Amino acid sequence: MPTTLATKEDLNFNRIVSKQFDRAAQYLKIHSSLLNQIKACNNVYYFQFPVRFGGDKYELFEGWRAEHSQHKKPVKGGIRFSELVNQDEIMALAALMTYKCAIVDVPFGGSKGGVRFNPKKYSDEQIEKITRRFTAELIRKEYLGPGENVPGPDVGTGEREMAWMADTYDAFNPGGIDNLACVTGKPVAQGGIHGRREATGRGVQFGIREAFQHSEDLKKLGLTPGLEGKTVVFQGFGNVGYYAAKFLSEEDGCKVVGIAEWDAAVYNPQGLTIEELNEFRKETGSIKNFPGAETLPSPDSIWDVPCDILIPAALENQVTLENCDRINCKVLAEAANGPTTPGAEERLHNRGVFIIPDIFLNAGGVTVSYFEWGKNLSHMRFGRLQKHLEEIKNQKLVSTIEKMIGKPVPEEDKKYLVRGPEELDLVNSGLEETMVTAYRSIREVHRTRVPKESMRTAAFIIAIKKVALTYEQLGIFP
Ligand code: GLU
Repeated sequence: MPTTLATKEDLNFNRIVSKQFDRAAQYLKIHSSLLNQIKACNNVYYFQFPVRFGGDKYELFEGWRAEHSQHKKPVKGGIRFSELVNQDEIMALAALMTYKCAIVDVPFGGSKGGVRFNPKKYSDEQIEKITRRFTAELIRKEYLGPGENVPGPDVGTGEREMAWMADTYDAFNPGGIDNLACVTGKPVAQGGIHGRREATGRGVQFGIREAFQHSEDLKKLGLTPGLEGKTVVFQGFGNVGYYAAKFLSEEDGCKVVGIAEWDAAVYNPQGLTIEELNEFRKETGSIKNFPGAETLPSPDSIWDVPCDILIPAALENQVTLENCDRINCKVLAEAANGPTTPGAEERLHNRGVFIIPDIFLNAGGVTVSYFEWGKNLSHMRFGRLQKHLEEIKNQKLVSTIEKMIGKPVPEEDKKYLVRGPEELDLVNSGLEETMVTAYRSIREVHRTRVPKESMRTAAFIIAIKKVALTYEQLGIFP
């Protein structure tokens, strides 16, 4: 029987992440035992648990929580609800969390968890029962707690699930003053932070924006600096894809010409209006037949749409040897975790496609989760103490300028100058600074140490070095 290219390709996610690690590790002078320690997933808790759905109706669920590295604590990473969840995937995603946190200087180890089921097939009440029971199992084995292991949202979960987890934890630990910090991505009214919902998409925007500042790199790709008018295609229009598409089109002037979801793909060479598409999806349950675009023959047709920037924002192993030759983009910006297989990466890289790696580009979520964790532990909203003081100072400054120049500062400018920062302003500026700094450090390592390799290898070099340093300073390795 003839084998296709895809079947020849090793799609084991864990092995893929290990390969990416090894590729970078060869450039580092770090003891092989330490490298092995960093690479390995330290522990995985697998469990099966029953949920009672009324009367004598029971269903059994499988759940996982992997802790890849405790070189810093707590360990951090999302909870995935999907029927595709499996141990290998959870372990790979936990490893990516370790590297991601290191790259953006978030002082956490990496973790990930999940329950294998399709939330679309269950009622809200049933999902709540599953979430609470899963949480209780994590507590029982000490896989949850503000100083130990702090989950956040991921595919199939959001603010609602995080609030249920926090509430369950609180019920098991009455009076714990830091209980809210046991999980991030909560609704703002339940101890969440402004900007967390959009954070991964915002981070993608900031990361791409920074990449498009470096004219030297862009010249090689035949691109001009800046994002205005650049064509963008998304595979995935969930929380990450939606916000990234919205911000890139509404704030940076990008033309989002194509978007694919699991059931359909739409195309408009003039650029899609993201809010209209989102409204349409809310009304009909799908992006299919959106009047503002042409519906393509299948979701898979998205790979044929030419663009400057292609953004996989769904799941792992989406850009493969099977479809990468159809792809016609200059930049592949990985908003999802692990969307590109090593085979596809090599081919695209050889064709001159510039890859902005996941372990940097989608780190906005965990960065703002870190801010939320800090907020919960400080028990105070960011900006609460400074906001008014800053407004008084700014007002004084504006009055002084007006007196000196002898005319009033225009009302619009005055409003902007005087206003003290809200929590959202602080979160977004902290996130922007984080993404810009991380990008520049990856670029520097790429330029000076591994110019022939991809940016992923440069990012891994940074991550491995930082984790290794922690181990060395702890005295565990020489
Ligand atoms: N799911 C997010 C990610 O893959 C992180 C969740 C969190 O904030 O812990 O980066």
